[in-house]
Amino acid sequence: MDALVTGVSAAGGFVLGDGLEILVDRLGERRPLDRPWWRCEACGHRATGLGLVPVVRVLARRRGCPSCAVAVKHPFRPAVLAVASAVVLGLFASRFGADVVLAAYAVFGLSMVAISAVDLDRWIIPNHIVYPTLALLVPLFVLSSAVDHRWGSLERAAICGAVAFLGFYVLHVAVPKGMGFGDVRLAGVIGLATGWLGFGHAFVGFFAGFLLGAGYGWYQGVDQALVTQVLPGARDRARDLGVINIANSAPQVIAPVIAYVCVIHLGGYPTLYLVTGVVTLLGAWAIWPIRSVR
Ligand SMILES: [Zn+2]
Repeated sequence: MDALVTGVSAAGGFVLGDGLEILVDRLGERRPLDRPWWRCEACGHRATGLGLVPVVRVLARRRGCPSCAVAVKHPFRPAVLAVASAVVLGLFASRFGADVVLAAYAVFGLSMVAISAVDLDRWIIPNHIVYPTLALLVPLFVLSSAVDHRWGSLERAAICGAVAFLGFYVLHVAVPKGMGFGDVRLAGVIGLATGWLGFGHAFVGFFAGFLLGAGYGWYQGVDQALVTQVLPGARDRARDLGVINIANSAPQVIAPVIAYVCVIHLGGYPTLYLVTGVVTLLGAWAIWPIRSVR
């Protein structure tokens, strides 16, 4: 049953995530959500054929507008949103199973994916997504509490939402440049959703966000600055940093799949540790010939 719920949720996330492109594109730029939904923003040409098939539409978008030849700004974003939403909804479903509150977390997850996409693109937290999210989350949490008499969870959610909102409001007043009011509203929503699970969850959610964000930010800044000092030439730095980025990210994409196969099908954690050891030795062997830099 739970596997079915997870599968359906992930599949739903995949299709709905593709549709999030409309919200991200229109609401991110404060344009109305009018039809036709899939169209060229330059000439109004309505998408046809492949351009109307969820996710597959990236193939049509890649070629630009067939009518006026204007390039699509983010041709592959519907596919990225689809995969991200499928992962988020699948994880929520595997955590909550067939529970009414899954509806609330599905709304929360899709909303966070859309808000992240807008924030990455335009550096704003769109009210036009945050307010409707709140308007859906509150009744869904009330409904979940009413169905299973989980009023304690609702109370915690309200407290954590309010505390997060006020905490971020103080930061916003103290450092208006570092923390916009959009962040304050979003903190309230995240406090609500994490608080429903418990005070510990809300605390870890915010504390881990701060601590890991700050720590990783400092590490990245220093790390990249040091790397530029040992790259061959200033002219090719952008390309070389790109290669390093791929070398860093690609294994993180592939490793979980290999780990899954090792743990489930090839004898469990001992096999995983053995494979990890072999890969580590191979990595050490690969850098052996490098005797110095520059
Ligand atoms: Zn056009």
